[in-house]
Amino acid sequence: MRVRAAVSRAGQPHPMIEELELGEPRADEVLVRVVAAGICHTDLYCHAGLGVPIPTPIVLGHEGAGIVEAVGGGVSELAVGDHVVLSGASCGQCPKCRAGRPTYCRDAMKLSFGGMRVDGSSPLSRHGELIHGMFFAQSSFATHVVAPERSAVRVAQDLPLDRLGPLGCGIITGAGSVLEAFRLHAGDSIVVFGVGSVGLAAVMAARIAGASRIVAVDISAKRLRLASELGATDAIASDEKTAGILREIVRDGFTFSFNTTSVPEVFTLAAECLAMEGTAGFVTRPRGGWTPDIAKLLASGRRLQGILGGSAAPKVLIPLMIDYWRQGRFPFDRLIREFPFEKIGDAWEACAQGAVVKPVLVMAPSDSKAPGASEAPSGSRPPGGSQPSGSQASS
Ligand SMILES: [Zn+2]
Ligand SMILES: [Zn+2]
Repeated sequence: MRVRAAVSRAGQPHPMIEELELGEPRADEVLVRVVAAGICHTDLYCHAGLGVPIPTPIVLGHEGAGIVEAVGGGVSELAVGDHVVLSGASCGQCPKCRAGRPTYCRDAMKLSFGGMRVDGSSPLSRHGELIHGMFFAQSSFATHVVAPERSAVRVAQDLPLDRLGPLGCGIITGAGSVLEAFRLHAGDSIVVFGVGSVGLAAVMAARIAGASRIVAVDISAKRLRLASELGATDAIASDEKTAGILREIVRDGFTFSFNTTSVPEVFTLAAECLAMEGTAGFVTRPRGGWTPDIAKLLASGRRLQGILGGSAAPKVLIPLMIDYWRQGRFPFDRLIREFPFEKIGDAWEACAQGAVVKPVLVMAPSDSKAPGASEAPSGSRPPGGSQPSGSQASS
């Protein structure tokens, strides 16, 4: 079928929309009409040729949500018409996948960044030219995708699909790190370095889990204000005084630190601000490398923990986050600003500049919303949603 997709080609400032051919779903795949897809910093880095190398041309996008339009012959858990959130890539066979920990799948890197299926094929092409796809098993900067049934999480039909895509990466990474990787207990303290979408999700999850102190650290005053509204007990600027202020807030150090930045100095601070036996969680690599004083860290029983995808099983944590959202306890939609798909250049810029916490591209208006609406009026709330309507969050 013919679809429209934003293709990343070398030298372009952002992915450009082209008309492509999309193949049929295979036996274990579903065809999904994408309603909306979030933009994550991983998309930005990959498009710019930074970070993990990817083949080009390629369709990026890995925070898609949409409606199943066709299913392969071997699909058993999804049906045409189901609403789904697409999550990351996993093989389904390796020990970690079988143990319900798909973000640590043996083949996750290859399947996420390889631009193709395991057998080397891509469902996308343009007049015979191979276009790489299957980015994080979705490539959702497109009007339609084929995705493995395994990575699609069914959600209730009364939910606003145009808001749910970021649950599949940025939001689950932050919430999962606190709830699954740390298993933070009531009374524990946590400091979150960098309160973009991942950090803010961690703040909200820490409040749900009953953290005694939730400290947000960022260079943006606007984001710090938002962090305070979403549950941070303290919000402090990131500068040379940060370490001293953290010691004043929790004298014996934090139970957990969560670093969403790639700044080497923040890696050091995140390790050194911990209490005895504290854990420092990291979701990205230090830019330019990092040499911690390992002997000093080990001597105090501290742990450094690399976290992929929040260590969470999407089929477990996405429904839970939605429950929390319905209860008004997890207002992740306040991070979102929507852009029409055609305005991908504006959305790209807003993400790169940090002007918007979580830009979401809307491919097709969802049923609950009038065409052309690009902001978050409270009227777009589904009748069943009890979520209090927050102010539109850009920061
Ligand atoms: Zn991502
Ligand atoms: Zn696996």
